[in-house]
Amino acid sequence: MTKDYDLVIIGGGMVGATLACSLGNSDFNVALIEELRPGAFSPVQPHDLRVSALSIASCTILKTIGAWKGVLTRRLCPFRRMRVWEARGETEFRSEEINEAALGYIVENRIVQLALLDRLSDFPNIDLFCPQKTGGIDYARERSSVRLEQGPVLSTRLLIAADGGQSKIRQAAGMGVSSRDYEQHALVLTVETAYGQQDITWQRFTPTGPQAFLPLSGPHASLVWYNTPEEIGRLRALSDAALLEALVKAFPGCLGEITRLIARGSFPLRRQHALAYAKPGIALVGDAAHMIHPLAGQGVNIGLLDAAALAQVLIAADNRRQDIGSIKVLREYERMRRTENLVMMTAMDAFYRVFGNTHGALKLARNFGLGLAEHLPLARKIVMRHAMGLEGNLPRLARGEAIIG
Ligand SMILES: Cc1cc2nc3c(=O)[nH]c(=O)nc-3n(C[C@H](O)[C@H](O)[C@H](O)COP(=O)(O)OP(=O)(O)OC[C@H]3O[C@@H](n4cnc5c(N)ncnc54)[C@H](O)[C@@H]3O)c2cc1C
Repeated sequence: MTKDYDLVIIGGGMVGATLACSLGNSDFNVALIEELRPGAFSPVQPHDLRVSALSIASCTILKTIGAWKGVLTRRLCPFRRMRVWEARGETEFRSEEINEAALGYIVENRIVQLALLDRLSDFPNIDLFCPQKTGGIDYARERSSVRLEQGPVLSTRLLIAADGGQSKIRQAAGMGVSSRDYEQHALVLTVETAYGQQDITWQRFTPTGPQAFLPLSGPHASLVWYNTPEEIGRLRALSDAALLEALVKAFPGCLGEITRLIARGSFPLRRQHALAYAKPGIALVGDAAHMIHPLAGQGVNIGLLDAAALAQVLIAADNRRQDIGSIKVLREYERMRRTENLVMMTAMDAFYRVFGNTHGALKLARNFGLGLAEHLPLARKIVMRHAMGLEGNLPRLARGEAIIG
């Protein structure tokens, strides 16, 4: 059996599901395929290892498409302060400096995904296939088809790859990437601390890599420890007691006492950028299009902006009676996002290089830079607005404007 769709989105992670919700109640009939069903949420569950610092722009997108409520009713932690320091330079940003209630929110990835999948059930024009594996993809410029392992063949004018950094859809369409592994891995730890819930996220730069603290709800936190792949491999293999001892020794005193180690996992880090975000009949969004160093927590934030931009372009094209699979339309999306994302990736690279360098002059310069940032109100506001995703060419959903109706 074959079912026809205007769009088939492959990958119902945070980005693919956001795109689907953004097209809810539009004139398109949409299929969203996700191979793994996220586990149901219970407030007594321990926090997941995978969490994200969502920018204000990301929260606005989720609010505008009606999914934020599903996050609020589960669990999240706002942060109002953001502290960055090195050996001698230091600065702390505070949300009241720009009259905002928060600089962002730390949320478990699964909670964002669950909130989006709940919201999808309100839209009659969207079919969710989950859990469902794709058995094969036949990309064609005019009409592609996706074979489901247990289900119909889906035929579509526009295929969307939202299937993450190792995107099989991108590969099936022969779309290339430029990529490079960072000489750093990240060890992510969920811990319980002696302090109660905190409203600060901090990052200390050390010669071996940054160490970061992200507050979670209650007395919990997510720690990220960047170091060489070998050192992260060694740390990850330690017993709980030995790892706790290593943490206390390496992390700054403001972490306080860690009362329990809840979970750990490590991630290789790679910079990857698709050479193009679109070809006739296909577009890439989120990690399928770009992977960036997570040190400033921007990966999913720029992915949600991709989803919001693509939805806006497709709705506008449909209103003009244009073919949504045409390269003319899809290039509009690419123009909105690729350069913006490249700028963000380049900025993260610069941080990685400048703060990972032990050269004396660079050390002096960055300590001076951090010290200076502490005393320049205008520069501080600009940095904060960037971190909150409020600068640049924002799609309408990120400004709180509806795109349908
Ligand atoms: C250590 C670390 C910390 C991070 N911290 C942050 C942060 O604080 N803030 C931030 O903005 N970003 C952060 N990121 C980045 C962020 O996690 C990613 O950018 C984000 O998860 C990308 O979302 P996505 O939906 O594009 O891809 P993914 O999350 O990879 O989702 C892809 C989805 O597609 C599904 N899928 C794959 N193949 C198929 C198939 N064939 N058929 C059906 N379904 C399929 C998968 O099951 C998955 O659900 C961090 C990354 C790392 C490694």
